[in-house]
Amino acid sequence: MKKISLIIPCFNEEESLPLFYETTTKILAALPYDYEFLLVNDGSEDGTLDIMKSLAAQDPHVTYLSFSRNFGKEAAMYAGFCNADGDYTAVMDADMQDPPSLLPEMIEILETGEYDSVAARRKDRDGEGRFRSWCARKFYKLANRISDADIMDGARDFRLMTREMVEAVLSMSEYNRFSKGIFGWVGFRTYWLSYENVERAAGTTKWSFWNLVRYAVDGIMNFSQAPLELASWGGILMTVFSFIMLIIIIIRRLVWGDPVAGWASTICVIIFIGGIQLLCLGIMGQYVAKTYVETKGRPHYIISESNRKDIRKIG
Ligand code: UDP
Ligand code: MG
Repeated sequence: MKKISLIIPCFNEEESLPLFYETTTKILAALPYDYEFLLVNDGSEDGTLDIMKSLAAQDPHVTYLSFSRNFGKEAAMYAGFCNADGDYTAVMDADMQDPPSLLPEMIEILETGEYDSVAARRKDRDGEGRFRSWCARKFYKLANRISDADIMDGARDFRLMTREMVEAVLSMSEYNRFSKGIFGWVGFRTYWLSYENVERAAGTTKWSFWNLVRYAVDGIMNFSQAPLELASWGGILMTVFSFIMLIIIIIRRLVWGDPVAGWASTICVIIFIGGIQLLCLGIMGQYVAKTYVETKGRPHYIISESNRKDIRKIG
């Protein structure tokens, strides 16, 4: 019998997790597949871990992996991939925003053998702020234009993958992870399944607007050197421009014997160029910082507690 592994990153999800577990179990139990839940507790401060423990005690399909602190959703997903051994593996949010009811259809599509992954995609962004969704749309447009990973607008991390694709995702062991980009980068044949946006079942989102901005910037930087190129081209343009200006000034001086003037405009130019230089240095600094973090080769996650002995505790 084929096996399905579900990876559920959980950070303070005591309200949603029981509901998620119940709904999903009902759906999976009706299918002719073996299944496992990998509940990853990402350093929750509420009763999430206790709920996981009681679920694991009553259901052998449940494995919980509890982090030693909050490592972030990307790390939780990575820990799940490291420890999942199903023929098909999916990542799902605990808040029901990734509808478990899509699972049977996703499995069916993979079973045809024509695709290696089925990814869920929101048709709309109902329930999300206008400004927020406008920013999100712009981000996807920009990211797709300048980076070498295809990122679909409205794509979620929710997707069911074959073992081959999971192995490929695991082979990308970078520390700065941006899963949407990684899934696109590894390629494979992906089927996009659209669905209406669902709002959170309970609790609140852990993403502030600025978190999202940082996530977006990270996403672009992890899969593109375009900002660096932009900095270089900006520099070249500025140099050419200033060279032309220099010639104009010299000619003016020789022809008209220009008296000293234009103090204000000189200061403006100095500040402007200084600003651009700092910006470019900052962009370079960001890449250097990322390289620095990567070279340290620190683990993505540390598991302090689990109900299974054979798991990869540090990875
Ligand atoms: N999550 C996590 N670690 C974090 C933040 C979030 O494991 O540091 C989990 C969270 O429990 C949920 C999923 O990631 O299952 C998505 O989080 P959320 O619903 O807050 O994000 P949104 O759906 O608003 O993008
Ligand atoms: Mg959510």
